[in-house]
Amino acid sequence: MRERKIQGSATPDSPITSGLSSIAPASPDEIVNDSLRPTRLMDMIGQKAVADRLRVALEACRIRGEALPHILFDGPPGLGKTTFATVLHHELGVELAMTSGPALDKKGDVMPFLTNAIEGSILFIDEIHRLPKSVEEFIYPVMEDFRVDVVLGEGISARTLNLPLKKFTIIGATTRSGMLSSPLRDRFHMHEHLEFYDIDDLARIVTINAAKLKTTITQEAAIELAHRSRGTPRLANARLRWVRDFATARADGVVTVEIAREALDMQEIDREALDKQDRRYLEGLIKVFHGGPAGVEALAATLAISVDTLADEVEPYLLRSQFIIRTPRGRCATPKAYKHLGIRQPANRPLTGGPEGLFGLI
Ligand code: ADP
Repeated sequence: MRERKIQGSATPDSPITSGLSSIAPASPDEIVNDSLRPTRLMDMIGQKAVADRLRVALEACRIRGEALPHILFDGPPGLGKTTFATVLHHELGVELAMTSGPALDKKGDVMPFLTNAIEGSILFIDEIHRLPKSVEEFIYPVMEDFRVDVVLGEGISARTLNLPLKKFTIIGATTRSGMLSSPLRDRFHMHEHLEFYDIDDLARIVTINAAKLKTTITQEAAIELAHRSRGTPRLANARLRWVRDFATARADGVVTVEIAREALDMQEIDREALDKQDRRYLEGLIKVFHGGPAGVEALAATLAISVDTLADEVEPYLLRSQFIIRTPRGRCATPKAYKHLGIRQPANRPLTGGPEGLFGLI
């Protein structure tokens, strides 16, 4: 079983960029060698419906001796899209190549994998919504008929050469499934949406990973970390590594709930799992835009944060935990957001920033 990496010529050093901004993006080597990443499907915590469907797909492809179907994973960063891809590669014992949409700048960038692909291998394309249109169209026949169409010559003497390929699997990952064109989306046989994790599942991940890191953690501390991890395993791992350092530096190395709270308070992660960036977002929305509605571009310009960061990393959790709502006219802060920041909500601006109320906007 081998992992290969291919890179686009435009950004030869670009890592596979998945991750919340508070954590540096991982390089392909780190992705594969991440010691906390489960390697078998049975070790994946939560996402039960997704894991069950993948189990069926694995079983079927083992029985028939065929490649896995093309699979698209979508969901916010850090929920396990890459992990599921690496798990499938381990389960099948097949080759895995990793790249990302922005790294595949032109058709030539994707050709090395296509022509070298062996039967049943996996090509993982992270951020597949950022694939340039020309590359996207180039891989349509690859996904459908395992064939590339190469145009030779120019003008009236031009002719198309059809190169047959081995049957392999493309696994795409995206934080923005809405940005995927429907022809590309339709060429994936399985679409798997990953949800935020509940507290029990995150606490289990923390406990298992504490053992991997040879750290003693109490059950109460694991639950505290789970509460402050925004439903996201990658953040749970990052929080765990931090409290472990804190426990080593400031105590006897054992992570108790008191140590966990002190360490997370020091990182300015509050009891609702919001970090500084989340609170800045809510403060901007409330103080500058009077609670909204505000468009994401306007918010991004005000906060000097990219639209992508807000849309991919900040807003999904704020929406899910009902600190904001999204209306056709923009984002609005909810009473929960005002209460959390200790700001009094003006009586005449109930939720939408206008007299028409919530139902006037939808
Ligand atoms: P994504 O690709 O969605 O951004 P990753 O697959 O890189 O997220 O997941 C980040 C980290 O979270 C992994 O390194 C792994 O340790 C952990 N993780 C993700 N999903 C699970 C899961 N279902 N069970 C246990 N750990 C997980």
